[in-house]
Amino acid sequence: MIPLFDAHFDLLSEISFKRNQGKTHVFKEDFYPILRDGGVKILIASIYLGDHQLKHPFYYAMEQIGCLHEELRESPELIMLIRTKEDLVQCKASDKIGILLSFEGAEPLLKPRDLYVFHELGVRLLGLSWSRRNIYADGCDYSGDAKKGGLSSAGHELMAYAKKLGIIADVSHLSDEGLEDIMALDVPFIASHSNAHSLTPTPRSLKDKYLDVLKEKDFALGVNGAHFIITRDGKTSSAEDFKAHVAYLTEKLGEDKVGIGLDLCNCLSVFGRSDHSEPEVISHHGESQELLKALEDELGPEITKKIAFDNWYNFFYRHLS
Ligand SMILES: [Zn+2]
Repeated sequence: MIPLFDAHFDLLSEISFKRNQGKTHVFKEDFYPILRDGGVKILIASIYLGDHQLKHPFYYAMEQIGCLHEELRESPELIMLIRTKEDLVQCKASDKIGILLSFEGAEPLLKPRDLYVFHELGVRLLGLSWSRRNIYADGCDYSGDAKKGGLSSAGHELMAYAKKLGIIADVSHLSDEGLEDIMALDVPFIASHSNAHSLTPTPRSLKDKYLDVLKEKDFALGVNGAHFIITRDGKTSSAEDFKAHVAYLTEKLGEDKVGIGLDLCNCLSVFGRSDHSEPEVISHHGESQELLKALEDELGPEITKKIAFDNWYNFFYRHLS
């Protein structure tokens, strides 16, 4: 079994959705068996809010974190929150699956100092924007025709406060201008689930001119497995497309900076996906090992192990306090 560190999964949306329907032990019953079969060891779970939740973003973020903490209390033998370097090391040595908490859009923060309480609750990663515009930054904008900027002055203030707390920025979903602003700061950062623009030119993908700079930065990236972000002909997608992105990004960034951030959504009921959804590289985490074996055939066992787990683990070992 090749251990997997998946740097992007919308676990919290699904857990709070199901707990609101009265279900308990969601992680234990609906996720753990599949994650275990797929060799998943650590997940970055995002706090993502849909447009309909933006009227009360602080509340919905708290609700998602609260639901996760209930699950942690219900299944302490299966799941643990990773807040520190010590937690990271302990998780690796244990049979538990570790969760790192992340913001996917900073709307829940009415002011930068609100980050303090989220840090206390375990949040260690901060995506300033999920594709949309907010008071901190512009997102990548899926429509492609919005006039965009980078970080606002509140965004810079938030980044300074995040640095003080040891919270790491995530540039997936940020505008190019925002990426340039983050690259100019003296901070480590990640792109948890982003691919190569030259293979799949979407507003979510990273252009070569940025990859060349990111190669020299304290940075790590997770290759995304969603259809629209791996397809190379605009219609089909397969493991071959995913492997092409992994190979390309590894060539551009080097073999120590590339990991995996699958972004699997079709397996989640909260987003109302159906069988008619565009296929993702795998349909759920239980199929991870087949994907990793396919990578191994192409890249060999040593590099595959780094991409599947070690590169993310080493990045967080360096940066968690
Ligand atoms: Zn995302």
